Amino acid sequence: MNSKLYGNLIFELSHEGRRGYSLPKNEFGRYDIPDELRRREDAALPECDEMTVVRHYTNHSGNNFGVNNGFYPLGSCTMKYNPLINEEIAAMPEFACLHPLQPASTCRGAIKAYDGLQKALSEISGLERFTLNPFAGAHGELTGLMIIRSYHISRGDTKRTKVIVPDSAHGTNPASAAVCGLDVVEVKSTADGIVDVEDLKGLLDDTVAAMMMTNPNTLGLFEQNIPEIAGMVHECGALMYYDGANLNPMLGACRPGDMGFDVMHINLHKTFSTPHGGGGPGDGPVGVRKGLEQFLPSDNFVCDATSSDKHTVDSDIFVGAYHGNFAVILRAYAYILTLGRENIKRVGPLAVLNANYIKESLKDVYELPIDAPCMHEFVFDGLRDKSTGVTTMDVAKRLLDYGYHAPTIYFPLLFHESLMIEPAENESKETIDGFIAVMRKIAEESVACPEEVKSAPHGTPIGRVDDVLAAKHPVVTYKVLKSEKA
Ligand SMILES: *Cc1c(COP(=O)(O)O)cnc(C)c1O
Repeated sequence: MNSKLYGNLIFELSHEGRRGYSLPKNEFGRYDIPDELRRREDAALPECDEMTVVRHYTNHSGNNFGVNNGFYPLGSCTMKYNPLINEEIAAMPEFACLHPLQPASTCRGAIKAYDGLQKALSEISGLERFTLNPFAGAHGELTGLMIIRSYHISRGDTKRTKVIVPDSAHGTNPASAAVCGLDVVEVKSTADGIVDVEDLKGLLDDTVAAMMMTNPNTLGLFEQNIPEIAGMVHECGALMYYDGANLNPMLGACRPGDMGFDVMHINLHKTFSTPHGGGGPGDGPVGVRKGLEQFLPSDNFVCDATSSDKHTVDSDIFVGAYHGNFAVILRAYAYILTLGRENIKRVGPLAVLNANYIKESLKDVYELPIDAPCMHEFVFDGLRDKSTGVTTMDVAKRLLDYGYHAPTIYFPLLFHESLMIEPAENESKETIDGFIAVMRKIAEESVACPEEVKSAPHGTPIGRVDDVLAAKHPVVTYKVLKSEKA
């Protein structure tokens, strides 16, 4: 895009007195705004003609990168294909124009979809009942921990204030526990990257409320000792919480409920497709095993499409008004129904195959700290050849020059140069081969012309930014200078 022609900021295209609209003639008379409510000065708004505005935003939209533009192997985020039919369904006025307080008898279809998703999630996860209320994975974690706390309190077991979290856990796990007023206790990982059962043994006592686990964990490794861990945790009276952010590779292979988990969340925007770049939108349904239903948030109406009433569960947990992020709920349900019972079973195996194929194709040039079969994602610890000084950051930036979104970098924290790759199940072999070829090319460049890689990206509208400055002193407002307005 030629930024001189179309401008980086709409303000730079402003000309005093230019208008892109006209208002109809005032037929209502004049009602003065009280003096104390008036601006002292005119708002500094850009003044542009309509075509300039349309071109400015249309051209800028071309700078967006999403799953629909290219390969987006962002580990831990499951950036999978979001079929357009989901968008069409979520945008249907019959759904989009509903009011959350309108009588149930007037929105039977919506209630049926809501109910259908709850049942589908129960079947997929092996848990008894879901609330669709929480708005994100992290929100689901908080909800789940509140449920667990209510469960212990209901039994008069009030000294359980600790939550055990693996050292490989996503940062939201300890954060949610802390927000819930619980104390975080870290359990170590073994050299193979899974929870250290011996270390766990020493942490379990009657002050533990729950153990949080992600499976496959954030290294993309299947936690093989879950039955043993669940046995130990239940033995000491605590509950098992499953962080379902990595449910994708499990689809069709196994169910958290069958492994001994009591409470879990699912990130609908990850496993069941919703475009969620830039932090949203999301939904984090929470499921519980049989016997814990009464602790679900009270706004969780148990839908019965044949009745006109919404029945509410009696609980004192409140995590959000109304019924969750309904458009995300619809997309997830559409995704599940589109795949159907048979095809949903192929999601997990395909995601796992794609990740292992990339891992095996690149491990001779990128350092693979844990050389084991992975699930849907895996972690490299930078390039194997450390002598070039080319870092994971440089590789990530260079990928942008080749039209690929960077993988997740510097997470998980267990390695210094983490480069976490997750291809998802819908990518073709050609796409994946193209990515592998570029990753190999960057490895070659880092020997032949390291400066080229270290100063990347070269072809993007903005080059290498100073991360620290951008984070500590972000400039997110634009000062309109008088001279520019003229
Ligand atoms: C994404 C993620 C979360 C947090 O989910 P949000 O929907 O982003 O709040 C928690 N745990 C893991 C392992 C994740 O990948």
